[in-house]
Amino acid sequence: MFCGIVAGEVPAFGVGSTDDCVAFLDTRPVFKGHTLVIPRQHLVVLSDLPASALPGYFGFVQAVDRAVQSALEAGGSFVAINNRVSQSVAHLHTHVVPRTKGDGLRGFFWPRTKYASDDEARDYAKRVGAAL
Ligand SMILES: [Zn+2]
Repeated sequence: MFCGIVAGEVPAFGVGSTDDCVAFLDTRPVFKGHTLVIPRQHLVVLSDLPASALPGYFGFVQAVDRAVQSALEAGGSFVAINNRVSQSVAHLHTHVVPRTKGDGLRGFFWPRTKYASDDEARDYAKRVGAAL
């Protein structure tokens, strides 16, 4: 499914990309603006990522983290990777979630919300992308 997004065959609200990585909105965000960063290469878990790819991948995760926080005026962020357990898509992805003090987050990924419309999602993707 994420390989389909990389190939442009599956629609996504894209935030930005590099030669090696793609960032797009999670369609069931913990908070609006919740972005996923994936390697273009099909890798399943973090331990599959070659050491040579670490700077490129996590450098982009860091840039997306900055963009999410600045674009959405978040007080902070939550950045995480599920490996196999609780990993809903078997393609390595890092969650970048905007946080605000007192935002009501109960568990790391619960409860989830929804975008009111595709237009709203597009607007969030554009705002974060513009700050990237
Ligand atoms: Zn894949």
